[in-house]
Amino acid sequence: MNPIAIRSLGRLAAILGALACASAPLRAQNLEPAKQKPPDEAHRFFDSLNVGLVAAEAGALLADGITTQYGLTHYGGREADPFARPFVDHGWTGMIAGGTLFISAEVAVRYLLHKKRHHRAERWLPTFVIAYGATGAVYNSVQIHKARQPFPR
Ligand SMILES: [Zn+2]
Repeated sequence: MNPIAIRSLGRLAAILGALACASAPLRAQNLEPAKQKPPDEAHRFFDSLNVGLVAAEAGALLADGITTQYGLTHYGGREADPFARPFVDHGWTGMIAGGTLFISAEVAVRYLLHKKRHHRAERWLPTFVIAYGATGAVYNSVQIHKARQPFPR
């Protein structure tokens, strides 16, 4: 071996030795028995965020319901969602019953997710209900707006 290679090997050995010494305290820490962490503090199920999400769901479904009933009363037609249609066909009573069933079932699923410690999924699930209600309300509003336009000549 030439002297440069030997010197490089010496430096490499010195670096490895320094790293081994520097990591000794880390290895010592890893050998200690793992300290028991306190169980992570889970939030209460009906905390302010979850109550707010339920209110947002109810608001979105109410907006969908109001625009649906307005469109059906003034311009006719029928509910586009086949799952909601039986409830919508019974007017406000059916729609309130359907909305209550829908939100209750969704909150029950969220509670199960909460109990299984899937808190992120628990928080994301309502966004689908909110998006469903908001999309329906926007779609209905656009249809009502189009129906109010005078016929093109
Ligand atoms: Zn939770």
